[in-house]
Amino acid sequence: MAQKELICIVCPLGCHLTVEIDESKEQGIKVFGNKCPRGETYANKELTAPTRMLPTTVKIKNGILNRLPVKTEAPIPKEMIFPCMAVINEVEVEAPVKIGDVVIENILGTGVNIVATRTMTAK
Ligand code: SF4
Repeated sequence: MAQKELICIVCPLGCHLTVEIDESKEQGIKVFGNKCPRGETYANKELTAPTRMLPTTVKIKNGILNRLPVKTEAPIPKEMIFPCMAVINEVEVEAPVKIGDVVIENILGTGVNIVATRTMTAK
């Protein structure tokens, strides 16, 4: 039986999880160290289809700053982070932009939009 150590990132408590992986059982994994059921859900997801939020910035023309903070509206598959960053790095928006404005729609077919996380007025 294999064991894996994880830190739950669902809330600021950051529980240290020990995951026992037993592929012979229908349930597959047993999770220890979680202070709430969300830790078990997180461990399951992390071992089968890990996802992450992607906070970053894009270039902005005519804004009061040179970069506009953006993020994914929802978590994306971990393996899509670098391909999405390649797309994000090619984008340049123009001020003014309002917080929540969609900067890239459905990035790389993930079904997730990239949105502005602050308002940026024009110079
Ligand atoms: S297991 Fe529950 S209490 Fe612990 S970090 Fe995860 S969400 Fe927070």
